Amino acid sequence: MKNKSFYMSRVYSGIVMLSLVLLSLGVAAASGGKAIRVLMVGGGSSHDFDRWYKGADVKTLESDHFAQVTYIDDVKEILKHLPTVDVLFLSNNQPIEDAATRKAILDFVAAGKGVVLAHAALWYNWKDWPVYNQKIVSGGTNNHDSYGNFEVVLSKTKHPVTKGVDKKFELKDELYHYKLDATGPGIEVLAVAKNAGSETSYPSIFVVKNPKARIVAIALGHDAASHDILNYQKLLINAVKWVAHH
Ligand SMILES: [Zn+2]
Repeated sequence: MKNKSFYMSRVYSGIVMLSLVLLSLGVAAASGGKAIRVLMVGGGSSHDFDRWYKGADVKTLESDHFAQVTYIDDVKEILKHLPTVDVLFLSNNQPIEDAATRKAILDFVAAGKGVVLAHAALWYNWKDWPVYNQKIVSGGTNNHDSYGNFEVVLSKTKHPVTKGVDKKFELKDELYHYKLDATGPGIEVLAVAKNAGSETSYPSIFVVKNPKARIVAIALGHDAASHDILNYQKLLINAVKWVAHH
């Protein structure tokens, strides 16, 4: 017959096991749990997509298992990957012409998934797909200052996307002249870009007020001067985290 101490030792070892399980769950929760699944679309002219998006940005997003990024530069592959991701990250400087892919992107937005629009994806690139700019970007860009130094100034310092980002920083990039489309859903400006001493500023980091999906636009990102700085990397991580509801 087993004595009391035998049963007590079983109880204690059970408590220890349970504590270890709870502890490991706690660690997983503290690190954000499951990595956010991101489909990053790049490719096209004027930029070194392999270096700054497939290279630098994927490395930033995958550090500490924060995100799991699938990078593609063939827009025909969007359709295949879209059903299995939480966030669509568009940086491509090339058109998406396939009707089924366009529909799938609009459905993804309508389903309330997360979208990040980076640099070239804010351009008026799709002349035969005006709905993209109107509904998803709520406007667009067809002009920028030539590459050079300018200031980024936060308008919203308490928004999750600008958390930990310097209130004002300088960098070398192309200052995009984003223009709002009044027929679109509208935007909430989180940061503006302007030349030092100039009164004219343009939205640089903003939320597109889509009724279903969280959409964040980051106008910065021409080359190393943005991708390699901490403020840009924080904006990138914050944007992916926020649009994915993490
Ligand atoms: Zn550029």
